[in-house]
Amino acid sequence: MKINARVLLVEDEPSIADNIKYALNTASFEVIAAASGMQALSIFKEQSIDLVILDIGLPDIDGFEVCRQIRDVSQVPLLFLTARSDEIDRVVGLEMGADDYICKPFSPRELVARVKTNLRRYQAQLSTPPTKNEKLLLNNEDRSVYFYGQLLKVTRYEFGILQVMKQHPKRVYSREELLEKVWYEPDNSIDRVVDTHIKTLRAKLKEVDGQTELIKTHRGIGYSLEIS
Ligand code: CA
Repeated sequence: MKINARVLLVEDEPSIADNIKYALNTASFEVIAAASGMQALSIFKEQSIDLVILDIGLPDIDGFEVCRQIRDVSQVPLLFLTARSDEIDRVVGLEMGADDYICKPFSPRELVARVKTNLRRYQAQLSTPPTKNEKLLLNNEDRSVYFYGQLLKVTRYEFGILQVMKQHPKRVYSREELLEKVWYEPDNSIDRVVDTHIKTLRAKLKEVDGQTELIKTHRGIGYSLEIS
């Protein structure tokens, strides 16, 4: 987790704000406090904020409006403080874009735990590449391959393997079939050559993302490309 994450605390009740600030400072978080919605928005514009704790009942614009305006520009984790059950209903039901909420009264320890959980979740999301829907991009013009948006240097045959298998994701291709479709002189090649190229291709993919198993082995049958 990011050390010394900076939390924007929006709470107009000084005693509650002080309690939260103390608990977060003790847990090594930096806290910037705002006592109104407008103040919160102006701080958010000027400073780099890692997480927002947002009271709903504020003297000027309410927490929902602050949330909406923050969400227009940022996906930073946002945790609502709610005092009433009808507020909870709105937070949950209207899908305000809040990541979490906590009901008053709450223990400072519970709040700190929630802050940590939300920061961790957010940072995990950030480390997941944003182009997840387009895991694998093949450019037939210049035979370039982009895996999670990153350019891969592939050989002619490696490109060919991906190109063939991408036509039918999840379909299993036998070595013979890949040889026939990718290699120009399949008769002069042997099955092993496919395995060798799959192996080098996997190593290249793994350099970009070690988690995703893009090419799946079906023992005794062949290979498939795991994109949906
Ligand atoms: Ca309040």
